[in-house]
Amino acid sequence: MQETLIKNLLRELARNISGKNSETIVDILKEKTVNEFKIADKMKLTVNQVRNIFYKLQSYDVVIASRKKDKRKGWYIYSWSINVPKSLEVLRNIKQKQIFDIEHNIKSRESKRFYLCTGCNIEMTEESALSHNFFCPECGRLLQLSPPEGYLREQRQKLEHAKKEIAIIDAELGKMNVKKMAKRARKDKKEKKAKKEKRRRERKKKAKLFNKSIKKSSKKGKAKKSKKKKR
Ligand SMILES: [Zn+2]
Repeated sequence: MQETLIKNLLRELARNISGKNSETIVDILKEKTVNEFKIADKMKLTVNQVRNIFYKLQSYDVVIASRKKDKRKGWYIYSWSINVPKSLEVLRNIKQKQIFDIEHNIKSRESKRFYLCTGCNIEMTEESALSHNFFCPECGRLLQLSPPEGYLREQRQKLEHAKKEIAIIDAELGKMNVKKMAKRARKDKKEKKAKKEKRRRERKKKAKLFNKSIKKSSKKGKAKKSKKKKR
């Protein structure tokens, strides 16, 4: 379930950055790297259209490009993958901004009065209603004081929803961090082992050289001694 939620969030991000068209990218790429021809084929777009979408996404660092030269034709072919950790970070910022806006809306609604035309369903601030003498500028109907409860309920629901989404994003980022740290720990362990092995080999080599030099000097000594004997 978490995975679908994350996917939905990633779809929302793609849509926010480069339009409704780009939502399907999340389903096409999943966790793979896919070349632009395959993407264009699946999205029923031209390669240039695909590139334009991805360039937009790339400006937010939410996708990663790799290019390969086509030896026969001499041009470059791009492949793309989703930068999931960066995407989640960008999403988190968007959600944070949403929360800020909703909280602002709630505060403003709690402290100000709004007027409503029940005919056109237009709502306006008290100031604006006053400037129209409390008549609807569209249809001339008398404006009514708009009760805040419905609006506040809706905004509070939105607020809860955005907070939940941030919690999900944080949990996912946390999981990724744990994975990253485990990977680093494994790498460190491997490197330590390699260093230890290298030191061991060096010690062995040194010992060998040392032994050799001792043997040599003792041979020389013997040779000198034998020379002395001859004299
Ligand atoms: Zn009206």
